[in-house]
Amino acid sequence: MAAAILVLNAGSSSIKFSLFAERGGVLELDCRGQIEGITTSPRFIARDAVGAILGERSWGDGVKLGHDGALEHLSAFLRGELKDLPLAGVGHRVVHGGLEYAEPVLIDSGVIAALRKFIPLAPLHQPHNLTPIRLLLERMPQVPQVACFDTAFHRSNPALAQWFALPAEMHDAGVRRYGFHGLSYEYVASVLPRVDAAAAAGRTVVLHLGNGASMCALAGGSSVASTMGFTAVDGLPMGTRCGSIDPGVILYLMSERKMTAGAIEKLVYNQSGLLGVSGISSDMRTLLASSEPRARLAVDLYVYRIGRELGSLAAALGGLDAIVFTAGIGENAAVIRERVCRDASWLGVNLDGAANRAGGPRISTAQSRVSAWVIPTNEELMIAQHTRRLLGDTAVDREVRLNAEG
Ligand code: ADP
Repeated sequence: MAAAILVLNAGSSSIKFSLFAERGGVLELDCRGQIEGITTSPRFIARDAVGAILGERSWGDGVKLGHDGALEHLSAFLRGELKDLPLAGVGHRVVHGGLEYAEPVLIDSGVIAALRKFIPLAPLHQPHNLTPIRLLLERMPQVPQVACFDTAFHRSNPALAQWFALPAEMHDAGVRRYGFHGLSYEYVASVLPRVDAAAAAGRTVVLHLGNGASMCALAGGSSVASTMGFTAVDGLPMGTRCGSIDPGVILYLMSERKMTAGAIEKLVYNQSGLLGVSGISSDMRTLLASSEPRARLAVDLYVYRIGRELGSLAAALGGLDAIVFTAGIGENAAVIRERVCRDASWLGVNLDGAANRAGGPRISTAQSRVSAWVIPTNEELMIAQHTRRLLGDTAVDREVRLNAEG
């Protein structure tokens, strides 16, 4: 029978949602949207699968809805949207699954307690990911919930790829490279066999270039290395995050500039990357449209650092068969793809300029030794699929209706 799966991605200031309907064994997007500015100036928008607006609301400046109020509004909207469709379960994006969770997990209070232990590893994301889980467990305990982790896909990394060269005691205590954006990489790896069998079976680097950005080395579809490490601030420069920097810089800022941990956190997460270097914007579209030298510098540095990481990941793979671009910049910024591919010609990438401008999926020439692709990511569908799988058939048959929740 038909049923719905709700996917939630809760951050500090927003809750993003996607509602999937399962019909005849296939998950189809019904609607998606978000409530943002939940503690400052809440705004809600929901669109259907083709982008038409289904609902919109603004609460005005200074209104603090919080996660609680945002979920309440969302529940009311979804009740109208679901009509008679039973809600089979809710899947959540959770940033950190630590060493324990290499797979998504059905949530109970024990799992929540386990996931709370990872808050110090991801203080900016983990607590906010967990808030709606806790609220829904209190209010709708009969609705199954599933946690899907950004780290889980990288648990297949070999031990060496997980080590920092720190004392072993710290590694044992969990100070190691975890890697993130795993749901995006897992989705790309899951569709790659249908796109290109050689890329799926071979040594492929996926470039997830969004506001957050990282790259992942896939060997036969499994993650063997990635650019993010202990936290999601490592690796590539991003919209506002600095990516890898010499730890000596942090020590210098502390000792010479007397910066506190909080001030450094703000610097490396919110004031750096494309925004920090350009002084103009964290948005790639704005920077590409600007003729300011600092905007150009930010884009040049972004492309340069991608090239260096690509060399590093190709070394981790022992060669390269394919590269795949995904996420906002990877899917839409042809000029960035072109520059990355041209810089990677030494690795065997031969760009097909016209195919690239047309958006792919294949953007390399037929003769290219390393093939290059554009594959739109879909982390929400990945979460819905995991949720569906963990619920099993019986849960879908259980008529858990949001309508009945009041
Ligand atoms: P998030 O990590 O928040 O999900 P996205 O994957 O949506 O982010 O990526 C956002 C980035 O994609 C922004 O830097 C935005 O400028 C960039 N982007 C989106 N469309 C284009 C485009 N047509 N050209 C260049 N950059 C784009």
